[in-house]
Amino acid sequence: MKAHDAMYIGGQWRPAVGQDTIAVVNPADEQVIGHVPAGTAEDVDAAVRAARDAFPGWAATAPAERAARIAALRDVLVARKDEIAETVTAELGAPLGFSQAVHAGVPILVAGSYAELAATYSFEEKVGNSTVFLEPVGVVGAITPWNYPLHQIVAKVAPALAAGCTVVLKPAEDTPLTAQLFAEAVEEAGIPAGVFNLVTGLGPVAGQALAEHEGVDLVSFTGSTAVGKQIGATAGAAVKRVALELGGKSANVILPSADLAKAVNVGVANVMGNSGQTCSAWTRMLVHEDQYDEAVALAAAAVAKYTVGERVGPLVNAKQQARVRGYIEKGVEEGARLVAGGPDAPLDTGYYVAPTVFADVTPDMTIAREEIFGPVVSILKYADEDEALRIANGTVYGLAGAVWAADDAQAVAFARRMDTGQVDINGGRFNPLAPFGGYKQSGVGRELGSHGLSEYLQTKSLQF
Ligand code: NAD
Repeated sequence: MKAHDAMYIGGQWRPAVGQDTIAVVNPADEQVIGHVPAGTAEDVDAAVRAARDAFPGWAATAPAERAARIAALRDVLVARKDEIAETVTAELGAPLGFSQAVHAGVPILVAGSYAELAATYSFEEKVGNSTVFLEPVGVVGAITPWNYPLHQIVAKVAPALAAGCTVVLKPAEDTPLTAQLFAEAVEEAGIPAGVFNLVTGLGPVAGQALAEHEGVDLVSFTGSTAVGKQIGATAGAAVKRVALELGGKSANVILPSADLAKAVNVGVANVMGNSGQTCSAWTRMLVHEDQYDEAVALAAAAVAKYTVGERVGPLVNAKQQARVRGYIEKGVEEGARLVAGGPDAPLDTGYYVAPTVFADVTPDMTIAREEIFGPVVSILKYADEDEALRIANGTVYGLAGAVWAADDAQAVAFARRMDTGQVDINGGRFNPLAPFGGYKQSGVGRELGSHGLSEYLQTKSLQF
């Protein structure tokens, strides 16, 4: 993979205004694999201008033509699938098989879904004596994290383009090469100059300049709750639209009638995938007291299969590794029982954390309340369904969750009482058309499918 020493602005790769660069590090071997420009407010300003200039033309482009361009983009992602997977593995550290199936595979599905939605969506509706037009919001400032580097870009850019918006993207500093590869794909797909622009750079510099820029009409942010709150406040002060996809602390609720072994195994796999760096991961496993010891033994056996360096990759950087190891130490300090893993680094090189399972976790412990963002499962005990619900709903987050029971209806009845945006019933599969987003402090707005598209539209009513 090659690193561009430039920004993609107005359909061209242009040198940054400043000289500063960001080193990209492979977290598996700690080697520098490239450098990208560290953009400044001036680069952001140039990108926003390019997006503003391109907006009227793209907004006026027929939806069928926008759909054709997004379909072409999907086709480029398909053609470059292996290169995408290798790039994500190099800068994020995910095992190659996971990168191929998830990091490269899911964005192809999502781009395809927006090619179809752009062609079929009703951008006009009749309400009594009114005609309501659904019009693009304008210029979108997209700020993305590193954990699903291409998915999070496509989940913002594809619906924005389908709606007729233009975009400036500021990707995470840890994974800018995937973002550069995406910009190449946009160019190859024949998307007009200025419709999509890329500025690499640091969050508090380029990210903040983008969120504050008065030429941006909507800020779509995915990342930490702390930065999300700041971006929400900035957008609120400017009366700007904002979409926030923030953290999570999701519960995997195993009701007594469930297939316990299946629920535990799938639950462990859900957290170990992507080394636990998944905002919607079910990091709290809730088990009935009568089945608790059996579930703990099953979880310890399940996690033993996740060999470090093979099935479980490193964390993205040294800071995240230290943070997660700190949480594991905190868990031990506060009285949780380690049944697998622990705070010691399992390998000498690379930012690895041992796959870890804690038993005897109580809802007041730090590891049960805060997002850890690493391969750590906490198993909590409940006496009845009401207590399970209180624990499941007892955090500031509400992004996802799972419920297991002998029949779907029982699981659905429980899921309806959960304060969360997505629940998988008895291991339900990922659906790229289902709205994804949070209740409570997990966010504002939804991504994916038609709900994700509507975030980028505003309504105009004409009365007759
Ligand atoms: P972060 O919120 O700092 O970064 C996310 C994005 O925001 C990056 O592109 C970053 O450059 C940018 N950013 C940072 N500060 C900014 C600012 N002041 N203004 C504008 N943009 C800014 O997240 P992180 O440091 O990469 O990860 C820290 C924690 O965030 C993780 O441990 C995890 O808990 C959480 N996280 C959540 C998700 C999610 O999908 N919900 C994704 C990644 C990280």
